[in-house]
Amino acid sequence: MDKPTNLEKFRKQKQQRRAQAHTLCKSGFHKWQFDDKKQFDVQQGKLVSIEQCARCGKLRTRVS
Ligand SMILES: [Zn+2]
Repeated sequence: MDKPTNLEKFRKQKQQRRAQAHTLCKSGFHKWQFDDKKQFDVQQGKLVSIEQCARCGKLRTRVS
């Protein structure tokens, strides 16, 4: 009867990790990653790069 226990443990760990990530993101500590696929865009003569959080998938734009 090892499998159900292990599975339960695995699920809990997964949930914990997700909760931790959510807390970090909620506190504003996003893990921003530059996405090459979402390339630069030009809006009103300004260069805009799009970054995505690796944890929650939130997008942000940076205008340079
Ligand atoms: Zn995030």
